[in-house]
Amino acid sequence: MWDKRGKIDADAMHKFVLIIIFFLPLLAHSDDRYTVHFDARLKAATVEACFDGPAPRQLHRNSQAGKFTNWVRVDGQEIEQDSRSARLTLPLLADNACINWQVQLSKALTEKNYRLAQKLDRDLLTSGDLWLWRDGDRRPITVELRIPDGMSISTPWKEQPGPPGAWLFRPDPTPVSWTARIAIGHFKVQRIPIGGMVLRVAVIGDLSDQQRDMLGQWVRESGEAVASVYGHFPRPAPQILIVPIGSQRSVVPWAHVLRGGGVAAEFFVDETRSLDQFSNDWIATHELSHLLLPYVSRRDRWFSEGIATYYQNILRARDGRLSEQQAWQNLHAGFERGRAASRGETLAAATRSGWKSTMRVYWSGAAMMLQADTELRLMSDGRQSLDSALAQLRDCCLISNRSWRARELFSELDRITGTSVFADLYREHVTDDEFPDLSRTFEGLGLVLETKSIKLDPDASWGRIRFYIMNG
Ligand SMILES: [Zn+2]
Repeated sequence: MWDKRGKIDADAMHKFVLIIIFFLPLLAHSDDRYTVHFDARLKAATVEACFDGPAPRQLHRNSQAGKFTNWVRVDGQEIEQDSRSARLTLPLLADNACINWQVQLSKALTEKNYRLAQKLDRDLLTSGDLWLWRDGDRRPITVELRIPDGMSISTPWKEQPGPPGAWLFRPDPTPVSWTARIAIGHFKVQRIPIGGMVLRVAVIGDLSDQQRDMLGQWVRESGEAVASVYGHFPRPAPQILIVPIGSQRSVVPWAHVLRGGGVAAEFFVDETRSLDQFSNDWIATHELSHLLLPYVSRRDRWFSEGIATYYQNILRARDGRLSEQQAWQNLHAGFERGRAASRGETLAAATRSGWKSTMRVYWSGAAMMLQADTELRLMSDGRQSLDSALAQLRDCCLISNRSWRARELFSELDRITGTSVFADLYREHVTDDEFPDLSRTFEGLGLVLETKSIKLDPDASWGRIRFYIMNG
């Protein structure tokens, strides 16, 4: 642009100006910005959403949110909303417009629906979409949360440096139907480092420091088990929420993985139990193993549940919580339950038919994972395994904000491993109305069925594979 004598070349300058004019709008493009104030007693959330450029025509929200909405305003003017709708239709707004609304959280609590909002002692747990309403096109957003002094917050979203007194987050652009849970209150978020990653653990409700430490220890142990699959935890900073619900018949009556704006696992626990009882429970290892895969369509739940069900046993043997014998015994007992629950329906159909087919679905998936793991180790003379295949799947496909079909992930796994192990398993089992036949795998691995238990044959032809499955 500058010639040797330091004078501007007019033609080059013209091009430069054109380039600037073309790229400036792209450079200037930034996030929609949400600011949310929670009042001192966490009774209401007051939101301002300012859009970058043209505003969306609709915002998506929890289907119940309208009932608890005090008002929605544009430029100080209240606008009509259909309180029964999960969608808020916006009037035609100017570019860069802002819109405000207020949700009465105290009213949502009266529903006594823990999926919507729940108070635990002085802490509040809500579904994010109760007050954070988003467009359907996954526009990038930044959320600034203002909460009472001295309180803490737990979200699955990426943390950003923010102004003093505010908490700034940038949620991943996941579909609006993927939910998030947000806790605000007097807990501390424990940051548990595991293999280069950090679990952001929040134990909510008024528990003793000793109970919090114990629950943190339990999550650490299960997190380390999952990190051992390929040396680091699959996701960089998942949110782990632990919700104490008092004395129960089981240690963790319920838990699930959520992926709205970032990955999370939520555990409803009986906090009166001991660390030993928590350690002996399989659920945390199961739930965190789900994070080895991206979101798998519910139509293929046999795959995501199969992975988690397989690893909940393998990983606990690898870290010594189960003996090898116990882990094989658990797998065998599970396969038997799955077989007994197979009633002439294909695996694909059973997966569609919901909870009544849980055993058939979970354990068929686990049986396929045992077959895949065994085949890969056998074909590669131990150089490949389900662990190594998942490690590479992480690089191509794990950080993903969409739903995957099992068939797509299976073809990635075949590409990664240079085999057709997964396509073959898919063809054999997904449209089969029988539970997978494991007799060849059991025979090779030296898993001998006796009346009540399983014996490990020391002279089995694939004895080394059996050993490495349980020892990593
Ligand atoms: Zn599961």
